Amino acid sequence: MSPKKEISLKTRVLSKNDQLAQKLRERFKEEKIRCINMIGSPGSGKTSLLETAIPRLKAGTRCAVVEGDVKTDNDARRILKAGAPSVQIETEGGCHLNGEQVIRAIGALSLNSINLLIIENVGNLICPVSYDLGEEKRVIVSSITEGDDKPLKYPSAFTSSQALIITKVDLAPYVDAKVEKLKNNALSLNPKLEVFCTSSRSGEGFNALVRFLQCNGPKENAVEA
Ligand code: MG
Ligand code: ZN
Repeated sequence: MSPKKEISLKTRVLSKNDQLAQKLRERFKEEKIRCINMIGSPGSGKTSLLETAIPRLKAGTRCAVVEGDVKTDNDARRILKAGAPSVQIETEGGCHLNGEQVIRAIGALSLNSINLLIIENVGNLICPVSYDLGEEKRVIVSSITEGDDKPLKYPSAFTSSQALIITKVDLAPYVDAKVEKLKNNALSLNPKLEVFCTSSRSGEGFNALVRFLQCNGPKENAVEA
């Protein structure tokens, strides 16, 4: 296949996803749901941070989680235990979530009873970046144990996100990486990133993170209108 053909095929696949993402975005708007697409490496602490954050959300925020993993529904079970409805997508080898999978997954949720949907993407810093899931905000999760040069190595995950959650900061003394350096590397690529430095173990940084996730309710606004 010539390079030209490869490019046009990729464009076609992505634009199909873009159409589905547009549908999702309209659906979320109708239902007054804020959607957050969470991207990060396997083991970066995405599920742990949700387990810590969910019980701290104020009553007005009604959150559900779509979990993406290659196999198992372990994470969906963890989220249910933490107190939020959750649906697992098992991608059976797929290394990212696409709009079609998310449309199917949200069919299992009662959308009129939530105002915040968090999608925990498959652990991967590469192709999830190219798949819009209709989110309002994209969040990149990066643990200090992965090293402080991650933004320089995988820039698009950081440049396409609106917020960076640095996890496992309690482990910084034990690894050859600095939280400030990770933060500054990310900000050098994307100065608009909102940055949260957290530890799911100690709860450090969660007041600010919960305020960020919190829905001052699109649904409450609708009642006022
Ligand atoms: Mg997980
Ligand atoms: Zn992929």
